[in-house]
Amino acid sequence: MERSFAGRRALVTGAGKGIGRDTAKALFASGAQVVAVSRTQEDLVSLAQECPGIETLCVDLGDWEATERSLSTIGPVDLLVNNAGVALLQPFLEVTKEACDRSFDVNYRSVIQVSQIVSRGLIARGSPGAIVNVSSQASQCALKDHAIYCSTKSAMDMLTKVMALELGPHKIRVNTVNPTVVMTAMGKANWNDSKKSEAMLSRIPLGKFAASRYHPIPLAEVEDVVNSILFLLSDRSAMTTGSALLVDGGYLVG
Ligand code: NAP
Repeated sequence: MERSFAGRRALVTGAGKGIGRDTAKALFASGAQVVAVSRTQEDLVSLAQECPGIETLCVDLGDWEATERSLSTIGPVDLLVNNAGVALLQPFLEVTKEACDRSFDVNYRSVIQVSQIVSRGLIARGSPGAIVNVSSQASQCALKDHAIYCSTKSAMDMLTKVMALELGPHKIRVNTVNPTVVMTAMGKANWNDSKKSEAMLSRIPLGKFAASRYHPIPLAEVEDVVNSILFLLSDRSAMTTGSALLVDGGYLVG
């Protein structure tokens, strides 16, 4: 897919590892100026070494005040990827206040906060923009031990629609990508158990998880989820807003 993001400035949250890191690298390779936001400084240092010129910002997005301070001087941003997330799995009867608060603060509340900051800037400049929220197939189906996680992603899907409704008149598009399992650090932590992952795979018509750089795929191939994120950020999806793009190999068809 031909894409150029030259002249656009993109902010990616959770860019230290996994999907966010690959997205930041793909945007950088496509000519965008990239601001990589994440929680662990060493990840950002190594990312900046891989992509000289990338800007980095280390902040815990679950901390409203710290995020407000860090992003107050962020400057103009045209493209935003709200990717940072945690998956704290607990059986429903054992769900704790701490896991619930942390999950909603990071997966949901930070999306509101960062999107407000970026959108206010776009509106003030009269510039068009695109926001992609990284949701999950788990927003649309119940998964065992995923009570909080599924709920944060369902809330994100609906937030995305309301944002699309209210930001559309300002020429800001807002969409989600909803991947199946990706074997990132998060994916490995939750799906390494072969019995569990085989049960999931058996329900995916395409018979595989979404590709990530952690799989032995040719280097030139951009991973499945990043491809969809870049499509939704690009003008190729200029008439698409408020949608959820499934990257689930067909998991949700049945
Ligand atoms: P990952 O490998 O765990 O990477 C997540 C990144 O987000 C890390 O760099 C992490 O930094 C950062 N992050 C987490 N909490 C943060 C916070 N409070 N402030 C700033 N940065 C924070 O996860 P991933 O698999 O790439 O997941 C990325 C997104 O895709 C998430 O929203 C996830 O829900 C979604 N998703 C993942 C899968 C999957 O199977 N992997 C499937 C569907 C959807 P630290 O490591 O320093 O905390």
